[in-house]
Amino acid sequence: MRRTSALFCAAMMLTSLTAGVVVTSPDGRLVAEVSVDDGVPHYQVMYDGQTAIAESSLGVVTNVGDYTRSMAISDEGEEKQITSVDNQEKIKQHSIHTDARERVITFTQDDKPVMALQLRVSNKDVAFRYMLMPHRGANSCVVTSENTAYRVADNALTFMAPQSKPMTGFARTAPSYETKYSLGEPVGRNGWGFGYTFPCLFEVPNADADKALWIMLSETGTDGGYVGCRLLGGNGGEYRIGFPQEGELNGWGSTSVQMPLPGYTPWRTITVGHTPANIVESTVTWELVEPKYKASRNYAADYGKGMWSWIIGMDSSCNYDEQKRYIDFAAAMGYRSLLVDALWDVQIGRERIAELAKYGKERGVGLYLWYNSNGSWNDAPQSPKHIMNNGTRRKQEMKWMQEIGVLGIKVDFFGGDKQPVMQLYEDILSDANDCGLMVIFHGCTLPRGWERMYPNFVASEAVLASENLHFSQGFCDTEARDCGAMYPFTRNTVASMDFGGSALNKYYNANNNRGSRRVTTDVYALATAVLFQSPVQHFALAPNNLTDAPAWAIDFMKAVPTTWDEIRYIDGYPGKYIIMARRSGDKWYIAGVNAMEQPLKQNISLPMFDAKSQVTLYQNGEVKEVKVSRKQTVSIEIPTNGGVVIVQ
Ligand code: CA
Repeated sequence: MRRTSALFCAAMMLTSLTAGVVVTSPDGRLVAEVSVDDGVPHYQVMYDGQTAIAESSLGVVTNVGDYTRSMAISDEGEEKQITSVDNQEKIKQHSIHTDARERVITFTQDDKPVMALQLRVSNKDVAFRYMLMPHRGANSCVVTSENTAYRVADNALTFMAPQSKPMTGFARTAPSYETKYSLGEPVGRNGWGFGYTFPCLFEVPNADADKALWIMLSETGTDGGYVGCRLLGGNGGEYRIGFPQEGELNGWGSTSVQMPLPGYTPWRTITVGHTPANIVESTVTWELVEPKYKASRNYAADYGKGMWSWIIGMDSSCNYDEQKRYIDFAAAMGYRSLLVDALWDVQIGRERIAELAKYGKERGVGLYLWYNSNGSWNDAPQSPKHIMNNGTRRKQEMKWMQEIGVLGIKVDFFGGDKQPVMQLYEDILSDANDCGLMVIFHGCTLPRGWERMYPNFVASEAVLASENLHFSQGFCDTEARDCGAMYPFTRNTVASMDFGGSALNKYYNANNNRGSRRVTTDVYALATAVLFQSPVQHFALAPNNLTDAPAWAIDFMKAVPTTWDEIRYIDGYPGKYIIMARRSGDKWYIAGVNAMEQPLKQNISLPMFDAKSQVTLYQNGEVKEVKVSRKQTVSIEIPTNGGVVIVQ
């Protein structure tokens, strides 16, 4: 009897050491399996029976315990079906449908529960986060590292933006997620030596195209309770989670996480498909987070298009007369806002800003005011400075903005992902909400679920954006490849993106006659107004465009929506071309750009349009009405550095 029982126990032990805990997506195609081998927690991800993420390690290291070894699964958790629908007007799709299966798997160390893994699998995404439990009498801990790894196939190609060395770049403001995405580079590198910023896109090519895999890694739910993480490269396709670098923010704050226990980490997300469609259409970033406070007013009423003079006119354009002229221009276009960029405090002054706010209000144009985030962590000279980093001054300033009727703020130059700065983002957002202000961040980290977590958050830059078109002809020359045909697959899939583009000037200069020259076409500018998503778009248009740009382009820019109900990926390849569709109300916008050396000719299937119905086609520098074919297709041609838009 005794002997049987001992054997039975041994068998149970063996089972708990080797058998995996499996969660399968509702459609059965995506599978995540968690197991423990030799005390080390692992997971793997399969899609249609193919390995997407090979066995990779899990766990975290804290100053209370090392939860990466000597671990056992004590409870596999009950499988739960998670179903919900929520509305979100700021992202790629109006309805966020969550349809997933979830388990909370408990791990023990020395027979004591120390960590749980919340694992969720939907038809497109695998997501998990760790819960750390009070241990050894400690009700708080310092998380010093994560053992979370991602092993992708060694023939995978990467589309990833390198993380910067801290305190480099303009006025020592890096890292600010402003580096170029790689164009199908092999695995095995580590960026510039500092890893990569999220999101990270992989293609695992296959001779049988139906078996190719596209994998997107990112994270969501990051707030002042954690650090912003990066992806560190390794040999043979093994990547792992990295914490911030010591030098970030001029050394302010540690690289680790201070956490009360029990406490949660942010969610790690893995989106998988045979084409980029699941990645472009995924809403996992927002499925996993909740609003952190109530909106103090209806911000959605003020989403829409706007202008900013700085992208064409630079610092000297931030004067009273020019801003007034841009308010008139915004009003003529029917736009909702004007972004007044750096140096307004000295070049216009607070009293006259109040006058501009009043002048704009009478014309239906609200102001966004620019601020430098900084205290001690960068050398950027642009003012106003040292306000947004200090609670006392920030609250006073925001009260003043509320009194003069300002719509929102744009805060620039953050430079790091350590926990105190993640808390600073949250504090700025929450104080701004108290005064009914919307918030745009520039020179900043990737927003990780923030559209939903913070009701007054609008968008972040966190990408190599339009300013570089002004600064560099080289950037203009590769604009279609590095921006238009890249960001809809990468940066913009996980968060709204403040790019500040869609220029109709030939030159990035107020006289439209010198400086860096735009090589993309006017239809490209229209297409990116659809492809690049943010609920508030400050376009790079200039007052002269009312007379020197084609009337059809101006009319399009007057009408194009900034909020969308639905997204559908159609075709493309990162860095080469993209064609996708967005719906606003009952109107579909199909937009595409081409960065290849040859024109792109395609007969695209558009099942959203009735056969033989009429659509408006913007193509090759003109606009015309064409008929959808009997098979619900439309033939398009996109020139090199050009675009196409179809509207019905
Ligand atoms: Ca920037």
